[in-house]
Amino acid sequence: MNRLQLCILGATGSIGTNTLDVVARHPDRFEAFALTGHARVDELLAQCLQVTPRYAAMSDTAAAAELRRRLREAGSRTEVLDGPQALVELAEHPEVDAVMAAIVGAAGLPPCMAAARAGKRLLLANKEALVVGGAAFMAAVAQGGATLLPIDSEHSAIFQCLPQDRTVWAQRIDHIVLTASGGPFRQRDRATLAQVTPEEACAHPNWVMGRKISVDSATMMNKALEVIEARWLFDLTPEQIRVVIHPQSIIHSMVVCRDQSVLAQLGTPDMRVPIAYGLSFPERIESGASALDLLSLRALEFEAPSPERFPGLFLAWDALRAPEGSTAVLNAANEEAVAAFLERRLAFDGIHRINQGTLERVIPALPAQASVEELLALDQRARRAARELIAAAAL
Ligand code: NAD
Ligand code: MG
Repeated sequence: MNRLQLCILGATGSIGTNTLDVVARHPDRFEAFALTGHARVDELLAQCLQVTPRYAAMSDTAAAAELRRRLREAGSRTEVLDGPQALVELAEHPEVDAVMAAIVGAAGLPPCMAAARAGKRLLLANKEALVVGGAAFMAAVAQGGATLLPIDSEHSAIFQCLPQDRTVWAQRIDHIVLTASGGPFRQRDRATLAQVTPEEACAHPNWVMGRKISVDSATMMNKALEVIEARWLFDLTPEQIRVVIHPQSIIHSMVVCRDQSVLAQLGTPDMRVPIAYGLSFPERIESGASALDLLSLRALEFEAPSPERFPGLFLAWDALRAPEGSTAVLNAANEEAVAAFLERRLAFDGIHRINQGTLERVIPALPAQASVEELLALDQRARRAARELIAAAAL
């Protein structure tokens, strides 16, 4: 059997390293053809020495030069490319079968679109790319004949509950229920949310993740992005997407069928499960995750997300009903606000004010088939508006 040739975009991150963990369990099935990172040379160097990909790329040119030098010193045969365009070239490389999109943020859109157009098996963790790309992203998938497989645990859960034949999905689904852990501040005194530190926001109760998604989980903006992601992945209306808080993170999401039968996917919270499913679909392979011990579970709890505590979540439906492109505006504002919060330039509860304010200020007017360039121009326009609001906001 020919081994699946894999390009991992964002190999040095949390999803990237989990992907390499699953890949290492199946040397007969998968081969890392290309690994990419942004600026963390030590991490990508160690990965390259371990799995010897044909190519490595870093979007930061100086970091790439250092990686090239150190790999050469170590006698490695891996060829190093640099700059954002190198990521696009690797994502559409003719020898690549599958692309793991594990970059964080809208920066992942160009290589994702390239992989979609080139008809790859596209494993999508990079939810921001789909939130920004929207209809244009899905059109590229259809035109390229790509196989789009969700890696976000909630969307993988929905996907696992649905039949492989997509043409029956619309007939079958009444609505879906995305579960959310509620993050670290589900029960914290709301009056103290302004004082939350980056360290507190990044300490997630159930999942170990990158810093940006950890902050998004604390504000529930992560779930807002996931609502938008679900709209595109499963072709649903905003009304067909609901969110419930489930603090144990055992049920990863649910499909409620037309006949009120509810299908759910369960498991221990471990991203290697959706990653393994994306890699092996439609087969199943060992993921490394531990077994779910039902008898050790005391209770599965559910509660409604509070609009006072998690106002950001509700912006998802606002953005989906606003002019097309508004979801890209929301994402751009949120990326800027989270970066400012992590750099201690913005208070935790300021994130929502920036997101809402930017959404009100920037009204997109995109053409029917927006290009990547037009989407990225809108992204930049929204970032400028968000940065002005951040500068004006008192800490
Ligand atoms: P992370 O911060 O751990 O890793 C991000 C990766 O992207 C790194 O390899 C980094 O080098 C690269 N990167 C960052 N900025 C870049 C840029 N401008 N250009 C090119 N590469 C860049 O993040 P993560 O937690 O692994 O999350 C990655 C994506 O997967 C996010 O979209 C996140 O929402 C999604 N996701 C993550 C989890 C999780 O458990 N970590 C779960 C579901 C979805
Ligand atoms: Mg998720």
